[in-house]
Amino acid sequence: MTAPDDCLFCKIVAGDIPADVVHESDTVLAFRDLNPQAPTHVLVVPRSHHANAAELAAAEPATVAGLVAAAARVADDEGLDGQYRLVFNTGADAGQSVFHTHLHLLGGRRFTWPPG
Ligand code: 5GP
Ligand code: ZN
Repeated sequence: MTAPDDCLFCKIVAGDIPADVVHESDTVLAFRDLNPQAPTHVLVVPRSHHANAAELAAAEPATVAGLVAAAARVADDEGLDGQYRLVFNTGADAGQSVFHTHLHLLGGRRFTWPPG
């Protein structure tokens, strides 16, 4: 998909907006969330623009695996000891506010279920 000019995460991938990057590869970038909801809150995004996880899965299935693998590696680097939550918010009603696929990695505290 062609990146929209106004996509915030495309701008972070391009380096036009600064971010605290914790991991990168040819296909994904991981950076700290600006408004963290846990001691570790990292967003893992594909370099390519897709609106959500399902659209990325349809277009580039291997990159979805890449997001999960990158999240696991960052969790390890952060010392989370295999205790963390991965979230893809999809659609405004589910809490999605940036329409460029991103996997939330949250850890460093105990979480409740169900989510709010
Ligand atoms: P969503 O609500 O779409 O699932 O997640 C978007 C996330 O992006 C939010 O957790 C929000 O705090 C984060 N965010 C919004 N703007 C920026 C930004 O400019 N830089 C970074 N690092 N995170 C951002
Ligand atoms: Zn984008």
